[in-house]
Amino acid sequence: MQQIVSSLYESNTFILEKNNEILIIDAGATADEVKKYVGDKKVVGVLLTHGHFDHAYYVSDYIKEFKTKAYASEFAKEYLSEHKKNYSNDAGLNMDLKDFKDFVFLKGSGEIQIGDFIVEYGQLGGHSKSDMFFKIDNFLFVGDVIIGRGIGRVDLYGGSKAEMLKSLKILANAQYETMCCGHGENRTKGAQDKVISTYIKFLSR
Ligand SMILES: [Zn+2]
Repeated sequence: MQQIVSSLYESNTFILEKNNEILIIDAGATADEVKKYVGDKKVVGVLLTHGHFDHAYYVSDYIKEFKTKAYASEFAKEYLSEHKKNYSNDAGLNMDLKDFKDFVFLKGSGEIQIGDFIVEYGQLGGHSKSDMFFKIDNFLFVGDVIIGRGIGRVDLYGGSKAEMLKSLKILANAQYETMCCGHGENRTKGAQDKVISTYIKFLSR
């Protein structure tokens, strides 16, 4: 797995490779940055952990450049199409996507096959209404629901402490080896179980 730290609030863009196929998680790095790792391999999809611009800004470029599809929560459309909800206006980049023909919007939870990748997915929430987790092999991608030793902001549009608590309970029961957060370093399940239980206690008070 490759990890690119983007220039958009240092968000992570992850690049997974299997059998000459590439799956990208989040779109904060430019298509040119991603291209270095893609080479002549086929990009089978781009997964968005949520609709904030620092994780989604370059998704249209990836779709065009790599002739691929994007996958996101059904609740992401609202964020992607309004700069005040995806916060791109804070960085002077007004992102108001209108064309969703190459998007697959995921409802509920389940498992999908994208190329040779098996992706387990589920809706989260708390940081935004569009939060999702994706589990691929032993990696669990959680976007900004958990960031390193802490949790993501709950005070942005669609954020909620009650939803965050529900998300933490879901993640406490998840099986994985490495948690990949929307910003910062990847962390082990052992380390993250402690973080999650601390915040479950904190938010339950
Ligand atoms: Zn975010």
